[in-house]
Amino acid sequence: MSERINLLDFDRQGMEELVVALGAKPFHGRNLLKWIHKHGVTDFERMTDLPKSLREQLESRYEVYVPEIVFEQPSFDGTTKWVLELRDGQRIETVYIPDGDRSTICVSSQVGCALECSFCSTAQQGFNRNLSTGEIIGQVWQATRELGRPPSNVVMMGMGEPLANFDAVVTAMDIMMEDLAYMISKSRVTLSTSGIVPALERLREHSDASLAVSLHAPDNALRDHLVPINRKYPLEQLIPSCKAYIAGDRRRKITWEYVMLDGINDSIAHAKALIRLLQGVPSKVNLIPFNPFPGTDYRTSPPERVNAFRERLMRAGIITITRKTRGEDIDAACGQLVGRVRDRSRRQLRAQAAAGEG
Ligand code: SAH
Repeated sequence: MSERINLLDFDRQGMEELVVALGAKPFHGRNLLKWIHKHGVTDFERMTDLPKSLREQLESRYEVYVPEIVFEQPSFDGTTKWVLELRDGQRIETVYIPDGDRSTICVSSQVGCALECSFCSTAQQGFNRNLSTGEIIGQVWQATRELGRPPSNVVMMGMGEPLANFDAVVTAMDIMMEDLAYMISKSRVTLSTSGIVPALERLREHSDASLAVSLHAPDNALRDHLVPINRKYPLEQLIPSCKAYIAGDRRRKITWEYVMLDGINDSIAHAKALIRLLQGVPSKVNLIPFNPFPGTDYRTSPPERVNAFRERLMRAGIITITRKTRGEDIDAACGQLVGRVRDRSRRQLRAQAAAGEG
C-alpha cells in the first residue's frame, strides 16, 4: 500500500490547513481543491497556479488516488453500474441513473454492510470495512469524468449504512456540496439511513444534506423484523429525531423509503398505520417495489396493491411516489449491489462454524 497521503480525503478546510502547514496560503488549498475536483486534474505538475515549492512537496509525499473503474455494465434502461476496485482489491459499486435532465449517482459508503435487513442483498454478504472519504468522493470524481459534468443529484444509497461511517461520509458530502468542487445543492445530496438515532442527532449538527430514512414498516413489531436496528432505536426515538433534523426549515421534508413486500407490509391497514405514524411530520414517501435476489423468500407486491397503498397515503395528503425500478437487469437496483466482499463478519463465521469449517 502507498505511504502517500491521498488528497481526495480533504475538504476545503482540510486542504487549506494542509497547504498552510506546507508553507503556502489558504487560497492555494482552495485552488488545489478546484484542480482536483472541478478540473479532474490529478497530476501536480499541471496545477500551474500553485507555487513551485508547494508542488514539489506534494509530489514527494502526497497523491490524488482515485479508485479505478474496472467494470462498466450498462442496462437497457440507461442505468449504468460501475464496479470500482480499491487499493486492497475490494470492490464497490456505483450506479448512474439518468432521468430526463437529472443524473443521479448512487454512492456506496462501506464495503458490504453490518446491518442485517432481511430483504436486502447487501446484508447477505456481510460487512468488510468502511470506505475512506477519498473512496466515497472518488466515486463522484469518476462519475463526473464519465459524464463530462458533475451529476445533478447524489444519493448515499449504495452499499453500506452511511451513518455507520459518519466522519468519512459527512466530509465526502461536504465536498459534493462545495462550490469549489461539485457544487451540488443540499436538496440534491441525500443521505439514506436505516435509522441510527445517535448518529442522526450528530448529523444535524454537522451536515445540511437531505435525509431519507428506510422505514419499511409502520410499527415496531414488523420493523424489528425487517430492519433489526429498530430493536435498538425504535420508532418512538427515530421519528422525533427525524423531525428534529428538518425542524426550522419549512421547505424541507423527510423522504421515507418503504419497500413493498407482498403480504408483509403492503395492506391498507399498514397504510393507515403509516398515516398515523407520520402525522405532523413533513414527509414524502417513496414506495420501492421489492427487488428479488437469489435465496430470498420475499416477493414483490403486485402493482394493484402498490397503487392502492399509494392512493390511500395520497388521500391523507402525503406526497407518495412509486420509485421506478431501474437497472434491474444488471443487479443495480436497490438492495442488489454486490461488490466482491471478503466477508469477515460474524455471520460468515457463524456459517462456517455451522458447516464445521470454523
Ligand atoms: N443503509 C442505507 C442505505 C441503503 S439505501 C439505508 O438503509 O437506508 C438503499 C435503499 O434500498 C434502502 O431504503 C433499502 O432499505 C432499500 N432496499 C434494500 N434492499 C432492497 C430490495 N431488495 N428491494 C428494494 N429495496 C431495497
